[in-house]
Amino acid sequence: MVGAVLTQNTAWVNVERAIENLRRAGALSAEAIAALPEPRLAALLRPSGYFNVKARRLQAFCTWYVEAGGLERLRRRRTAPLRRALLAVPGVGPETADDILLYAFGRRVFVIDAYTRRLFGRLGLVPPGLPYEELREVFERALAPRAALYNEYHALIVRHAKEVCGPRPRCGACCLAADCTAGPGLARPEPGSGAAPPPPCSTGSAPWG
Ligand code: SF4
Repeated sequence: MVGAVLTQNTAWVNVERAIENLRRAGALSAEAIAALPEPRLAALLRPSGYFNVKARRLQAFCTWYVEAGGLERLRRRRTAPLRRALLAVPGVGPETADDILLYAFGRRVFVIDAYTRRLFGRLGLVPPGLPYEELREVFERALAPRAALYNEYHALIVRHAKEVCGPRPRCGACCLAADCTAGPGLARPEPGSGAAPPPPCSTGSAPWG
């Protein structure tokens, strides 16, 4: 949950550094974060960027979390009211709320992030600018309603968007090239060129973020 708040506008590796700072300071708990002086918390979060804003947001989240009764109480809430409560916390938007619902609470809520938009936009499967909730529904209608599937599917999107379909897509190495509207010209070898076809997609669990 801390990671979901800190990952806004930064790479996951920077989030890991900030979390390690919290751990070393003995402050990796909701109660400890809520009680830290804000400047001290901001200093610990410095590696994650926008650390003053993130200190305020993380503290607001942790204060809500503690006042709401912590994990055991929150676990008993149904998904829709829990999502509404998360969205009411200052600094928690739909992506952060859904990260927390899927990855921390194991709820059947698909996460839409920049990787998802980039990859599926390039594939031509979703129109650009589709609002968050509509895009989430596209995935939730298409996939079997299982949290483990959403978890793995989203993790694989992140992995593919990081390793292959990045800001500069490596279409020649992409296993989705044959179905892609954005990159097939780059990806498909010329007939008779002797070039190897794109490799199969990698599978297996990918680290989130
Ligand atoms: S072919 Fe290129 S643009 Fe299309 S999904 Fe693969 S890497 Fe991305």
